[in-house]
This record gives sequence, C-alpha cells and structure tokens, in this order.
Amino acid sequence: MPNIIYINGKYASYEDSKIHVNDRGYHFGDAVYEVIVFNNKIFYDFDGHIQRLFNSLKSLEINFSFSMSSLKLIIKNLIKMNRAIVGSVYIQVSRGISERNHSYYGLNIKPILTIIITKKSNIDINVKGVRAITLDDNRWSRPDIKTTQLLPNVMAKTKAVKNGAYESIFIDSDGYVTEGSSSNIWILNNDNKLITRNLDGKILSGITRNSISSFAKENNINVVEKRFTRDELFEANEVFLTSASSFVIPIIQIDNHKINEGLVGNISLNLRKLYFDNFKS
Ligand code: PMP
Repeated sequence: MPNIIYINGKYASYEDSKIHVNDRGYHFGDAVYEVIVFNNKIFYDFDGHIQRLFNSLKSLEINFSFSMSSLKLIIKNLIKMNRAIVGSVYIQVSRGISERNHSYYGLNIKPILTIIITKKSNIDINVKGVRAITLDDNRWSRPDIKTTQLLPNVMAKTKAVKNGAYESIFIDSDGYVTEGSSSNIWILNNDNKLITRNLDGKILSGITRNSISSFAKENNINVVEKRFTRDELFEANEVFLTSASSFVIPIIQIDNHKINEGLVGNISLNLRKLYFDNFKS
C-alpha cells in the first residue's frame, strides 16, 4: 500500500522522509498546521482551511510563498499517489531549520512544508452522541492561531479519553466556555438560540464552525455568537461540537450532567446532515 508524503519540496515514502533535528517546529512548536477531510473527490471547506493557514503564517511572520492553487495541486497529487478515496490531509509549515535560538529575527530561514495523507475507511453521516468533561483552560493567550504547540490540548484530550469521554471542554477563569481541546462548542438554549462563543481571540476560528453558522442561518436557526457559562452548557437543550475531522457531533453528557436526558438532539443531527449536503456537488 503506497505511503507517500510531501516534505520540503519532494514526494517521498515515509521511510525516506526525515525532519531535521534543528527544525524549529521540533524545538519550539514554531509551526502551524491545518487538517482537511476529503471524500470521493470532495474536499470539505478546502479554501477556508488554506486561508486560515495563510492567516496563521502571517500572525507568526513566517514567509511562505506557496499559493492556494499550488497547494491544491500537491494535495491532489498526493491523494492520487496514495490511492486514497476517503481520508484527511495534514498540512504543516514550520518556520524552518536553524541552530537552536529563541529569536528568529534577522535569520534567513526557509519554511518547511509537510503534507501527510491519512486514509479513512468511510465517513458516516449517522452519528452517536458522545460524552465530554470540563476542565480549566490553561492554554496560552493566543489560541486563535493554529500552531502545533498543543501540549495543553494533548493533556486535556488524554484526560477525556482516560475518563471514557470523547472531548474535553475548556472553561476560562471567569467560568465561560472557550472551546474543546480540538473542536468548537455549541449550545441550543431553552429559547431555541444556537450559541457559540464569539471570536474574541480566546478560541480558534473554526472553519467548520463558520460553515455551520452560515448553514444554520440559511435554515432560519437563530445563531448568536457570544460567551456562555458552564451552567448554561449543563442546562442546554442540545450541545454539540464541530471540527474538520468530526464535522458535527452531539454531546449527550458533560461531567455528571445529562444533556437532553442523554438523547441526541434533532438540531445537532440536522446540522450534521446539512453540512454534508452542502458539499455534495
Ligand atoms: N478549536 C481547536 C482548539 C481545534 O484544534 C479545532 C480543530 N482544528 C477546532 C477548534 C475546530 O476547527 P476546524 O473546524 O477548523 O477544524
């Protein structure tokens, strides 16, 4: 089975692809990334993800010269070479290689682009509800930039899995929900308002979040972007998460609180379906 990745200008097998020991991504997490899912020639939200990659690169002052169309070409080649039908594309750009030194000022470093394809067996439109836990948001103050510095997220997700849950939901120091360890969080409150946190720099501007917000509005659902508390989360009629690899997943229990008596809600299911419907053609 072909296992080919793209690294630093070349297509190579896994065995032949090496990261330099002085790659700044390796030393400092000085790198940004994106994940895009594909299914039978359909990319979900391709342009949105690549545009966010460019935004992250700009925030970190990484000079990257690839265009959206050249990235698309490489990704399509890679999918073909791997004979992949369904799967995800992981795109990472590190600042590049230099002797270990915190400052990058004045250094002439060439960014390193890595692209990895992971095959999936299929994508199921049907979905079961999952459990989540809450925990303090202990991340740095710029979670709006999609960097590979993910240790708090890694610890949080691991804690969820250890507890038999699917996701950890971060709560800020004022008691408000920020986001999941790798997802955005939504609630449907008792007034039938669909609420997700506004883009105040304390969450990632999720690409799936953005699409779901548009699709919900087009379907006359009242979407409100504002902060909500942990109590509002526990008392919501429905809760779900969104992310590129999970799409829309209903959450039916958080800590010891059952949501909607432990049943998957209709709005969550409809939005998941709407997401797939919108990318069918
Ligand atoms: N927040 C965090 C912290 C994430 O890691 C992700 C997944 N990339 C998301 C939100 C959801 O973003 P997207 O819908 O663009 O995958």
